[in-house]
Amino acid sequence: MTTTRSRPTHSEAAVLVGPREFEFRSIPIPDPLPHDHALLKVEATGICGSDYHLFKEHSGPPLIGGHEVVGTLIEVPPGSTWSGFAMGDRVGLEPIVRCGHCPECVGGRMNYCRRRFAYTFEPVDSGAGLWGGFSQYMVLIPGTSMVRIPSEIPVEDAVLFNPIGNGFEWVCRIGGLGVGDAILIMGGGQRGLASALAAKEAGAATIIVTGLERDREKLELARTLGATHTIIVDETDVPSAVSEITAGDGVDVVLDLVPGSTQPMSDALQCVRSGGTIVVAGIKSGPTQLDTNQIVGRGLRILGATSTTPSSIANAARIIESRKYPLEEFHTHCLPLAEIDRAIRLVGAEFDEPVLHVTVVPPS
Ligand SMILES: [Zn+2]
Ligand SMILES: [Zn+2]
Repeated sequence: MTTTRSRPTHSEAAVLVGPREFEFRSIPIPDPLPHDHALLKVEATGICGSDYHLFKEHSGPPLIGGHEVVGTLIEVPPGSTWSGFAMGDRVGLEPIVRCGHCPECVGGRMNYCRRRFAYTFEPVDSGAGLWGGFSQYMVLIPGTSMVRIPSEIPVEDAVLFNPIGNGFEWVCRIGGLGVGDAILIMGGGQRGLASALAAKEAGAATIIVTGLERDREKLELARTLGATHTIIVDETDVPSAVSEITAGDGVDVVLDLVPGSTQPMSDALQCVRSGGTIVVAGIKSGPTQLDTNQIVGRGLRILGATSTTPSSIANAARIIESRKYPLEEFHTHCLPLAEIDRAIRLVGAEFDEPVLHVTVVPPS
């Protein structure tokens, strides 16, 4: 085992022990690490809607949340590289580790791997326990997929590799958006904006982003990132506006990112063109009623999307590195790990202040 001289012995971590309840613990770092594992020093962790969802609902065994992690490999197994990476490399971590051998992996449905390991969701009492980014250090298992992040990229830009990776995955890989196409992105939060950027990169001709009145500033940023039109849903009927923008054609792809409300799905059916695709990534508060005759009669495709894949993460890293977009405008909050409770509740819009992207930084 290659060990740095000042090897840390413990990691301060925020452990989610129940709904809305964090407990700060000092967790021992295994010495030596389990076979073929690596140790990551966490630099910062981005927070998204799924962290908020977990925060509100968590009822299983205690765990360390945080899956949008940027850090530095400070201990790797002996040998020249580990998963193609070396000690000292600054990396962005892909949250899902797939087995590569089950029917889903072999069949190209890798996000549904039957033996997947998901950082964030593994209990703190299982194995090394340091499986989440709301911690000073993380232990990484063999097969972990990472992306290299150059040292000159500011950390708050670097943590955007995950939301932007989702944008590429949902818009391009799952949605199949092509050059000259039209897309309707429902939801003006960090995912919506990242998706507008991905649609722009894919060469879409029409990029429409919807949001609430309170998202007005975010929709302005959506335009900077590539949106050609924005719609405030509190004051405008979405299907009529989309029909007007597309001269009655409808859009090739709809991406529904809106959590809770099921209204966007019925709007989506009216906005998509025949033979078009609706990608659903927003978690609804309950079952959605749909007019399935529309789906049959107009040959629509409705696809679910959860996380991302290595190729979309690589696209995101390329965009971040290019400095082509004003990504610093995504940053609204950067808080110390000690304020994790507030950080997560900011993402859940529990405070009356504008929030786009929140990052937490552990003590160094
Ligand atoms: Zn996330
Ligand atoms: Zn698998």
